[in-house]
Parts: sequence; structure tokens; C-alpha cells
Amino acid sequence: MAGKTALIVLAHEERTSFNYAMKEAAETALKKKGWKVLVSDLYEIKFNAVLSRNDIIGSPKEPSKFKYGAESLTAWKEGRLAKDIVEEQKKLEKADLVIFQFPLYWFGFPAIMKGWVERVFSLGFAYSFETMYSTGPFKNKKALLSFSTGAPESMTSPSGLSGDINVVLWPMQNGILNFCGFKVLEPQISYAVAHIPQEARIGILKSWEKRLETIWDEKPIRFIPIQDFEGFSGGFVLKKEVEEAKSDDKFGPTVGQNLGKPLPPDSQLKSESTSL
Ligand code: FAD
Repeated sequence: MAGKTALIVLAHEERTSFNYAMKEAAETALKKKGWKVLVSDLYEIKFNAVLSRNDIIGSPKEPSKFKYGAESLTAWKEGRLAKDIVEEQKKLEKADLVIFQFPLYWFGFPAIMKGWVERVFSLGFAYSFETMYSTGPFKNKKALLSFSTGAPESMTSPSGLSGDINVVLWPMQNGILNFCGFKVLEPQISYAVAHIPQEARIGILKSWEKRLETIWDEKPIRFIPIQDFEGFSGGFVLKKEVEEAKSDDKFGPTVGQNLGKPLPPDSQLKSESTSL
């Protein structure tokens, strides 16, 4: 994969952690295949996860009615975003593939990673009204979530105590990655890593390394393209003809656009599991 660049964004507070080992494994495996690898170890760089008006250098356009979106858009256009945001945006610009490595905290990203997304995926740079979802600025990039859980896999099944993992994945994979245009690869989920035997953990690390050898060839998870939706004046709902074409389907098209039907099984886990 000479010429390709990967960015690994790591959110774990400890270097002895399984997540750190997954980051190390990915870095080594990708480099072996010729990838250039950039790393944002968010705890190491003490990334400031709190979005605020300090993210804009110089005077805001409207200090008494400060609106983060509008001010950050202007600042991005004028090169006045905070240095730490710009550094991360430069890494993203270079990256063909972005890997988010993290432990699942409260059904989502750890706060430091959520803050990275909030500040770095700024309006204009990562999305806009004109460029979002399948037309998003990152449409030529791929991304994937690699995370560990406390829960065993069965607990995150549709009948499990934590509920269907596809529902947990939807906000991160659709609301963040797909929203900014990324092609989203199947997530790498390391279940219950603190509660399984050491050999099993070593097996996970090995299969992660193996997967990364051919990661660029993988097919992305399917989302409905933005062209299938009405625009602003139509309320951004599925076009009538698209909805009608799906009326006989047993399952809803996606976790979010479910049309009141059962959720398509594993549609956020497997690239081939919807009829889209
Ligand atoms: P660690 O505990 O660091 O490591 C697990 C084991 O792997 C350890 O024995 C370690 O020694 C070993 N290890 C480290 N390196 C290697 C290596 N190279 N080879 C082999 N073994 C190695 N879980 C959920 O399911 N859902 C939630 O919503 C959720 N919310 C949480 C919220 C908070 C605030 C916290 C603290 C935890 C939450 N959890 C949740 C649990 C959390 O997801 C797990 O604790 C986490 O995923 C474990 O990953 P880790 O990297 O911290 O593992």
C-alpha cells in the first residue's frame, strides 16, 4: 500500500491497556504493508476535548452573540482556528484511512475522543449543508471503529441486556463518519477483553493484524445515498419512490431509516447485510 496514509486516533489513558496494544498492532501491521502511519494518541498529547470560543484565534465576528458553528466556519476559511485543531485537520487531510481505537465508554466514544470529533470535524472542513453524508468532504477516505467492550458479545445482541450493538454503532458510524462522507468499514469489536483468557486476547491481536493486511480492499457498510432523500424544502425525508420501492421488504433499510419495520440484522456490523 505504498503511497497510502493511515491515521490512528487512540483514546486510552493507559499504555498497558489492550487498546494501546491494538494501536501498536495496527501501526506495525500497516507499516509492514507499506502504509505511512500517523498517530494521534489523545492522552499523550493531552488533547483539549472541550469545545469553546477559545478555538477561534482573534476577535469573533459577533462576540455578544457568539455562535460556534458560524464563527468556526469563518475562522477555518481565514486560517484562524486554534493550532491544535489545525494540526489534527492536517493529519486528516493526509489520511486515506482513519482508525478510531478506543474502549467503549457509556455506549460511545470516551469523552476525549468525542471532544476531538467536536473540535476537529469543524463546519466547512468536515461537513456543510452543501456537502454532507455521501457528498461529504471525506468521501474519498475510509474509516473504521476499533473498540473494546466490557460486555460479552451475547449481551449486545438484540435480546441481550445491553441491547443490539447495531443501535450503539449507528450514531458513531452514521451520525459522525457517514455524515462527513467517510466510507465506513466494518467495525473491529473486541468483546469483554478484560474477562477472556490471555490466549484469546493474543488471538484478537493476531486477527486484527491479519485483517489490516488487506483493509484497503474491504467493501464499506451501506448507507442510503443523499440523492435518495428530498432536500431542505422537502424536509430531508426519503423520496416517495425510494420508500415505495422498499415497501415489500421485511426489514427497514437501515437502523435509522427503518420505516417502522424490524431493524436490518447486523447492518452496522457487516457490509453485505442490507438490501440497499
Ligand atoms: P484493559 O483492562 O487495559 O486490558 C484488558 C486485558 O488485556 C488486561 O488483562 C491487560 O493486561 C491485557 N492486555 C494488555 N495488553 C495486552 C497484550 N498486548 N496482549 C494480551 N493482553 C493484553 N463496557 C461496555 O460494554 N459498554 C459500556 O457502555 C461501557 N462503558 C464504560 C464506561 C466507563 C467510564 C468505563 C471505565 C468502562 C466502561 N465499559 C463499558 C467497559 C470498558 O469498555 C472496558 O473496560 C474496556 O473496553 C477494556 O479495554 P481496555 O483497553 O481498558 O482493557
